[in-house]
Amino acid sequence: MECFRCGTCCTAPDISSLQKPVGVRCRHLGDDWLCAIYEERPEVCRGYSPDWICREVSAPTLNERVERYLRIFDL
Ligand code: SF4
Ligand code: SF4
Repeated sequence: MECFRCGTCCTAPDISSLQKPVGVRCRHLGDDWLCAIYEERPEVCRGYSPDWICREVSAPTLNERVERYLRIFDL
């Protein structure tokens, strides 16, 4: 599956190596929805690939997508 740049996986989960809390947009996520530090991104980001969740969280706004993601993972 291909990433369609919805920004959800860079916003919804917490990422301890970036001190990023749950539901907060990563400071490295650009306005083009691309990672601004792609070559130096943390291991946890490198290990993430698009999957069924991308479709499942699909919604018109980032807030709605994040809410859906958090519900899936009970966060
Ligand atoms: S949730 Fe999926 S589609 Fe959205 S940015 Fe992440 S990998 Fe891409
Ligand atoms: S470092 Fe890059 S890939 Fe990782 S959450 Fe932030 S924007 Fe997304």
